[in-house]
Amino acid sequence: MKKLLVGEVITPFRVFKPGGVLVDEGHILAVDHVDALKREAAQILDFGDAYILPGFVDIHVHGGGGNDTMDATPEAICNVARTHARGGTTTLFPTTLTAPMKDIKHALLAVQEVSKRNPREFEGARIPGAHVEGPYFNPEQAGAQNPEYLKVPDINEFMDLIESVKIVRRVSLAPELPGALELIKVLNDNGIIVSIGHSNARYEEVLKAVEVGATHVTHIFSGMSSLRRIKSYRIPGVLESALLLDSLTVEIIADGHHLPPSLIRLVLKCKSLGSVCGVTDAMSAAGMGRGEYTLGGLKVIVENDVVEEYEVKPRGCVAKLENREAFAGSVAFMNEMLHYLVESVGLSISDAAQLLSFNPAKIMKIDHMVGVLASGRLADIVVLDENFDVVATFVGSEEIFGTV
Ligand SMILES: [Zn+2]
Repeated sequence: MKKLLVGEVITPFRVFKPGGVLVDEGHILAVDHVDALKREAAQILDFGDAYILPGFVDIHVHGGGGNDTMDATPEAICNVARTHARGGTTTLFPTTLTAPMKDIKHALLAVQEVSKRNPREFEGARIPGAHVEGPYFNPEQAGAQNPEYLKVPDINEFMDLIESVKIVRRVSLAPELPGALELIKVLNDNGIIVSIGHSNARYEEVLKAVEVGATHVTHIFSGMSSLRRIKSYRIPGVLESALLLDSLTVEIIADGHHLPPSLIRLVLKCKSLGSVCGVTDAMSAAGMGRGEYTLGGLKVIVENDVVEEYEVKPRGCVAKLENREAFAGSVAFMNEMLHYLVESVGLSISDAAQLLSFNPAKIMKIDHMVGVLASGRLADIVVLDENFDVVATFVGSEEIFGTV
């Protein structure tokens, strides 16, 4: 049955007000002004002045609703996908943590199992693949990755893993480790997105990684080297390289805690709008509230406190390691990040929506399916009220979450 969703439609490249999105059998048939589409619809869902946007695409997310990807069961992965659908996410890449290889494999097998299911069955975001974050990281930039399990790359071991699970679409690693450049090349040859993360690399080392196929940078400003001085000489790190090099796309954790508005504006001043995406990097406490949790065996506190010197007072909470010296991921939903990008950073709704839908889809090479409201794309849609709270989330033209 052809359904017409009516509201302020933001594709995100064009705005129709009042606009309509005509959907049928899981796909978008047309996007236009309401009057042009009314006749064709068998059912009209009128959302009034609400915003109708492409569903959010989260390419770096560990958990939510009390579960983590590393719980390694299909039920846990479904719960994460269902929890984030409450925040308007319609596609997500479950992300593993630094852990023993066998634990990473178990988690990936669970992701693979869920990726074969119809997301309507578990009423959650669709899962086209997994993101492997670690264990090939630099101990000096470990952040909240458990240092006990950090390793140097082992191509045979890792490619065995990738071939046995066939679900890995993205890998974050530190390119300065021995063997990393060879691994980047092999991953790139296999169509897997390689992202520089938890790295102490110098500019020259980043360039070598780019030459063999690294294209993305994991949570810019977190877990990366920046300018160092060696005997009066300035040596740029991953941060400056990421801002400088057009061939690298970057991701920002726009939960209000990880990056103040000024630093997000700096990223957008250096990078083109199309080469930046927002990710939650959310851990299991997303959607749960304050308290104590664990992350990869480390104790974590979820709270709203910020230091006095910080630029803004964010609305939501964040996860920190017990000593409060490092963040341990966000607990944000994508719609909360949209709110922050618009209200605190000052972006237009269209630009903020692009950072959370089209750009991440493009970075993961799935923009031919999701991330934009256009004819032929999957009917993955989020409807938001004027406060950016989620009114409804649609996956494959079915409402999987709704508040009315
Ligand atoms: Zn992460």
